[in-house]
Amino acid sequence: MAGMTTSRPARPARLWRLSLTVCTAAWLAACGALDHLRLRPVEPPPPEAASALTAKPGWTATRHAVAAANPLAAEAGRHVLAQGGSAVDAAIAVQMVLTLVEPQSSGIGGGAFLLHWDGQRARAYDGRETAPAAADGRLFLDPSGKPMAFHDAVVGGRSVGVPGTVKMLEMAHARHGKLPWSVLFEPAIRLAEGGFAVSPRLHTLLAADAHLRKDPVAAAYFYLDGQPLPIGHTLKNPLLAEVLRRLSVDGARALHQGEIAQDIADKVQRHPTNPGRLTTADLAAYQPKERPPLCHPHMAAGRTWTLCGFPPPSSGAIAIGQILGMLGQTEAAHAPLTGAGLPSAAWLHTYAEASRLAFADRALYVADPDFVAAPDGDWRSLLDPAYLHERARRIGPQRASDVPAGQRGLVRTSLAPMPDQPEYGTSHISIVDGDGHAVSMTTTIEDAFGARQMVRGFLLNNELTDFSFLPADSAGRPIANRVEPGKRPRSSMAPTLVFDDRGQLAMTGGSPGGALIIHYTAKTLHGVLEWGLSPQQAIDLPNFGTTGGPVVLEKGRFPAAVVEALKGRGHEVREQDMTSGLQAITRASAAGRTVWRGGADPRREGVVLGD
Ligand code: GLU
Repeated sequence: MAGMTTSRPARPARLWRLSLTVCTAAWLAACGALDHLRLRPVEPPPPEAASALTAKPGWTATRHAVAAANPLAAEAGRHVLAQGGSAVDAAIAVQMVLTLVEPQSSGIGGGAFLLHWDGQRARAYDGRETAPAAADGRLFLDPSGKPMAFHDAVVGGRSVGVPGTVKMLEMAHARHGKLPWSVLFEPAIRLAEGGFAVSPRLHTLLAADAHLRKDPVAAAYFYLDGQPLPIGHTLKNPLLAEVLRRLSVDGARALHQGEIAQDIADKVQRHPTNPGRLTTADLAAYQPKERPPLCHPHMAAGRTWTLCGFPPPSSGAIAIGQILGMLGQTEAAHAPLTGAGLPSAAWLHTYAEASRLAFADRALYVADPDFVAAPDGDWRSLLDPAYLHERARRIGPQRASDVPAGQRGLVRTSLAPMPDQPEYGTSHISIVDGDGHAVSMTTTIEDAFGARQMVRGFLLNNELTDFSFLPADSAGRPIANRVEPGKRPRSSMAPTLVFDDRGQLAMTGGSPGGALIIHYTAKTLHGVLEWGLSPQQAIDLPNFGTTGGPVVLEKGRFPAAVVEALKGRGHEVREQDMTSGLQAITRASAAGRTVWRGGADPRREGVVLGD
């Protein structure tokens, strides 16, 4: 933590200890309950198993800062920044180390969204995975036409999409890099060759996972005599070191063409029980995209902020903008935290109702914009204040029995809403460099350990299970997020940049957590902008949310009176682990100078490092 100071004392550890919860049973129950045909929302269990909670102090830095989910990755980013590297340079170094040390969450076998601020303009770089050319709407249907069980679809080759992270980073580096590309791989190569200590969280997730050990290559790397590698075990990954070395010399081409691409395609196609259709031609054809970020004004604490988020194929920014926008139309907008430092039951009720309305729009409209037209021709139509005002009028004192999607423009959509599906396994990186330029990047291999397929020391994603398993509803109306060749699956990832009323960068943040990313990020934004909390205090607030069904509250963090009050308003309430992995950096000033304040989630292993 070179040069950084902690901003407040750590809480006593005992307040934060949770039992190591292995949620396999809950997971199976939720998957078994997934009812695609009746469009009933199912609350997913937390995307990655919970591990111990560790209090985080909150950090400050004056020159530059990097927040990432693992200390070794954050240190690689800080090293790059200290050498004069840009925020994008640091993000590349962080991502390469995360591939090694946090393999359950993201890596070069997955996809990512990167939002960039160059001091003048925000840009959105889309490295989301694509479906192979041979994929179609039947990909996740069994021979009788029914959707496959979630993990039957995930594990194997079927769910693997064309990875996009490295090509996207290459595109961003060509525009915003300051240090040579090859230098940025050095920390990860060094660690892969010299070894790193298996973290408590990696150990916990290895112990919890029933599928990874079925891949002989992954089993040999992650398990010793059938047991997960112990905490602190020095793990070396020479195969990944070699891949990273090739990437450092030849660029993303080394992954998308030649021997490594061939190995990826072989692994997918030759899976013994669940092969996929990804080919070397798919890998060679992949293109990252620059998209216009979704920016809109947001009122909080009497000030006008600008929230910039990632447009479709992510649903994150639209849903967050809708929820906060609808909340702003109600009395709950300016309700303070209670004396206990928690949101009140009345506020949670309004938030939940706004969320149910937002998730109804998400299910109907949001999908890859290269395949599906935005309602009324523009995704911003879903954030139009007049539309949100109209939608917010549906929020009453009791839970609404019916929350249909809204209608934009004159043409009624012919689409069917997508049923709820689980979404999992991701990491968030926030960086501010010495020029005040910033990155907010959320990066994923989808489920924890992705498709559980290891190739040359890295894991392949299962991102295709973010598509709707059903291509259409029972009336034959197509679902916007159905599988189509070359299409990007809908995401919930919500890397976010916030600007103040002078157009200055005020915050960079985001989280993993499947569909609940939307709530984790919305909570943090509201905590910082409306409740005036530091990023660490906002991240520490208990998690809550709903994807349309029950209201989910973070287990053990809300008093019984709040639970009862929500039930009294007609909600089913479920208390469970909610394993967010929030990371955020905000601007503050001290003695007339800019100070960057960072926060990292106590529910995972992240830190903020800087100088
Ligand atoms: N695959 C999910 C998405 O893109 C993210 C999964 C997670 O965060 O755990 O929305």
